[in-house]
Amino acid sequence: MTENTLGELTIAERKQIFDENFRDITDRIAAAAKRSNRNPKDITLLAATKTIDVEVINYAIQNGLTAIGENRVQEFLSKEPHLTNGAVRHFIGHLQSNKAKDIVGRVELIHSVHSLKLAKVISDLSIKKGIVTDILLEVNIGGEDSKSGFAPTEVIDNLVEISKLQGVFVRGLMTIPPICDNSEKNREYFKEMYNLFLDIQGKKIDNSSMELLSMGMSDDFEVAIEEGANIVRVGTALFGKRFYSL
Ligand SMILES: *Cc1c(COP(=O)(O)O)cnc(C)c1O
Repeated sequence: MTENTLGELTIAERKQIFDENFRDITDRIAAAAKRSNRNPKDITLLAATKTIDVEVINYAIQNGLTAIGENRVQEFLSKEPHLTNGAVRHFIGHLQSNKAKDIVGRVELIHSVHSLKLAKVISDLSIKKGIVTDILLEVNIGGEDSKSGFAPTEVIDNLVEISKLQGVFVRGLMTIPPICDNSEKNREYFKEMYNLFLDIQGKKIDNSSMELLSMGMSDDFEVAIEEGANIVRVGTALFGKRFYSL
């Protein structure tokens, strides 16, 4: 054994953490939606379930969770057969082109399309399966070397190319801003994302829609909603601290 599981929370503890937090987070999402003059129903709480045991995830789904997002292809594949129905499944992690075949057709939305090449691979796989895959374009809003995603200035040109692909349909944008200790610092990044989102909406690019904006995590989902997010990806605040990171 590695040290990974030292101090790991038990399944019962994680279920209890979910029980304690789910209503509170739902209420905070609703309040933030109202502050930005939107209907709470228009905001999706997507649970980031990486490293969380499938038994805990299923418990959460049985108790009202309606959307989950996984990060790792292998982890998703190993959990998938055991997942209870009742929540839509999204893929939110970094996706390599050679692994796309394991994800296409299995999730409702892929958040993390970071290159034209990946979009082409997803499109080709989708065409072979006779489906169209909904995707978001990932934007590297902080311009960080360590992160993938399109630079804000590259998004429109790439969207124009990607929207010509028959097997994918771009429904919006996703971002992971730089890690910081203060959620207010990310407000500027969220604002920039929203402006880009509106800008693209105004261009009305054929065979795509700009309706989903996926941004905000445990520490900053309220700020993200205030600035226009309609999907927030929340892990730790729902299930407790992760004891190993992915
Ligand atoms: C893990 C993860 C989240 C959630 O992070 P928390 O800080 O635990 O809420 C959101 N988005 C992505 C892409 C993630 O990998």
